[in-house]
Order: sequence, then structure tokens, then C-alpha cells
Amino acid sequence: MDVYEPIMGAFPIAKKLWRAIVENKGLPSPDTVGKMLESIGLEKLFLGKGLGLFRNNFVIALLIPRENMIVVDFISATGDLSDALELIAYYDREIDCYVVEIIPANELEYEENLGVEPVIIDAKTFELKSYPVLGEFKQGKKTIILKVDNETYRLWRESGKLNICPVCGGELRWREKKAICTDCGIEVMIDEKR
Ligand SMILES: [Zn+2]
Repeated sequence: MDVYEPIMGAFPIAKKLWRAIVENKGLPSPDTVGKMLESIGLEKLFLGKGLGLFRNNFVIALLIPRENMIVVDFISATGDLSDALELIAYYDREIDCYVVEIIPANELEYEENLGVEPVIIDAKTFELKSYPVLGEFKQGKKTIILKVDNETYRLWRESGKLNICPVCGGELRWREKKAICTDCGIEVMIDEKR
């Protein structure tokens, strides 16, 4: 798995948080989230006192656990704040669901708002109530490739939104098991192995 940009870290961690919420029947501990960040290749610089700091050469992740909420900010290590992302996992009392969402860290730039479908998990049955299209990224020769597993692909097809880019909400053009976004240029590939 490659993590060269904030989004390349936020997607796989969102997916791991979703799995952990279902398995633990609740939000995972900051230590568990720290291990997730290490598992995608980020080095732990600090974890404790309500803050975690992780990084590789390209991306810095700030873990800020709060009461009933996990916040992870992904920032480009080059200091380019425009593509910074915030990943939030929390329990939403109103809808009695756990929610995992990825939003631009700088919400003022809402023109660049991402079209990332949140993960919504029923807090009683732990069934999925949304159609998130999450996966791992790989740096291709010219494009960034989002690898989506078969299970995710099946859900995505069910949602009837196969022509919508999971990263930016733009238009996807499919050719067999691959698609390319005409807006952000990301390539989506169905990973048969899983
Ligand atoms: Zn796109």
C-alpha cells in the first residue's frame, strides 16, 4: 500500500475503523487506531496525553481521541494544506449509528469538497446503512489507483452509483474491471484476490 497523499492514508484507515467498530461493537481505543496507522506504513513519533503523531516521508497524521469520538487529521508533509483531510469516527445519538467520515480539513474550500460516502453503522445491529467505497491506494505509472475488494464492489453495484467517483464525486468511465475518473483522474480497480 502506498501513502503519498492524505487521501491515500484516510481511505484505508476509514475502512479499518469501520471493521473495528463492527468487531468491538464500539469505537476502538487510541492505541488500536495507532496500530492501524502503523500498519499502513506510518511511523509512530508520539502517542499519549490525548494526542498521537505519526508520519512517513509524505504524510503526517495527527490522532486526536476525544470522548466518544476519534479524529485523525492527515496533512501533506510538504506543508500543502489544501489537500489536508480529516477523518472522524463518532457515535451519532440522533440516528443511533456510528459514523466514519472523511472531510476536507479546510471546510472553507467547499468547492473542493470530497464526494466520499460516509460509513454509517447501525449501533444496535452493527449492519451497514450506507454504501462506502473504500480501499487501498497504489501509485501507478501515471495515475493513483484505488483498489477496491470484491465485497465493496458488490455493495457499490447495489447502490447504483458505479458511475460516481468514490473520491471526488465526479464521473467514472468503466472498461471491464477498471474505471477512470474524468474529473480527478483517479483509477479504480477491482481487486479479485480478496
Ligand atoms: Zn474523481
